[in-house]
Amino acid sequence: DTLGPTVTIGEILVEIVATTPGNGFAEPQPLYGPYPSGAPAIFIDQCGRMGGAAAMIGAVGADDFGRLNLDRLRRDGVDVSAVAVVPDLPTGSAFVRYRADGGRDFVFNMWTSAAGRIGWTPEAEALIARAGHLHVMGTLLGHRQVWEMIARAAPALKARGGTVSLDPNLRPELASDGDLRARLDRIVALSDLILPSGEELYIAAGLDPAIGESAALHRLFNAGVREIALKRGAAGSSALLADGTRHDAAAFAVTETDPTGAGDCFGGAYVACRRLGMAPAMALTYANAAGARNVTVRGPMEGAGTRDELDRFIAETGRRA
Ligand code: ATP
Ligand code: MG
Repeated sequence: DTLGPTVTIGEILVEIVATTPGNGFAEPQPLYGPYPSGAPAIFIDQCGRMGGAAAMIGAVGADDFGRLNLDRLRRDGVDVSAVAVVPDLPTGSAFVRYRADGGRDFVFNMWTSAAGRIGWTPEAEALIARAGHLHVMGTLLGHRQVWEMIARAAPALKARGGTVSLDPNLRPELASDGDLRARLDRIVALSDLILPSGEELYIAAGLDPAIGESAALHRLFNAGVREIALKRGAAGSSALLADGTRHDAAAFAVTETDPTGAGDCFGGAYVACRRLGMAPAMALTYANAAGARNVTVRGPMEGAGTRDELDRFIAETGRRA
């Protein structure tokens, strides 16, 4: 691993949350927010809070929603030199309301906002030129502009000894689209670390879940992946290494207040810990703690923890049976 920062590319949003459970936004209702958000932003914020060198490529508007995000990322140690401030579009936003059944209804203003102006700026180019690691969000493989940046950045990093991680975060329907499948295969082949959630293991491998976990792992390791951190929500997580080593970690026993951002905090902590030189088992403990701590707090990245906060959380919180 080279010493440059962990970099991610993608949307920066504010999230505004309905305070009551129910279906959608067809009627006036109490709202809470804005909170800094966007999956890549949550990932990189947790990475920075953990103490890993972290930087982001994105775009916000010249408004309070943008300043809220930039202030948070800066506070948490994230280099925002490659986050463009767009003068003529508002910062992206997501209104979210939880249904009684745990589902979510959204109203998004994402690619029609400043986030849609993400591009290969001189600042982005300079950042990529000194980055040590690129984290790729699978949700963005279908976004033409962002894909072009990933397709340019990932091989460049690898060629000079950097590393790449992927959170597949793709629905099965999407991964069966021809173009997207090809992009996914290309990025899997460049990835050192993959962080799938449940069935995404099979989506990343391009195999039917009926084939079983070990066949899917085998396929990914053969493609050049060295490590897989498998997320299982309240059932915890596992780290699986190409040398056959396996670590399983039970989840922490917490009360879930807001599930948004668990996977991104898990990933940010795992990548930061591994790049700080920790062994997989220890990285997994911090990642589990980061995911669990984040779901106890309302707001998508409000529960991201510093290393001290996570140490305290680990000491004070029991594990699920
Ligand atoms: P997201 O729902 O944000 O996309 P994900 O599906 O990628 O997340 P999850 O498996 O839901 O990822 O969460 C990541 C990690 O966070 C889990 O492996 C677990 O360690 C922790 N976590 C998530 N939810 C809970 C919970 N309810 N209780 C304890 N730990 C949790
Ligand atoms: Mg989840």
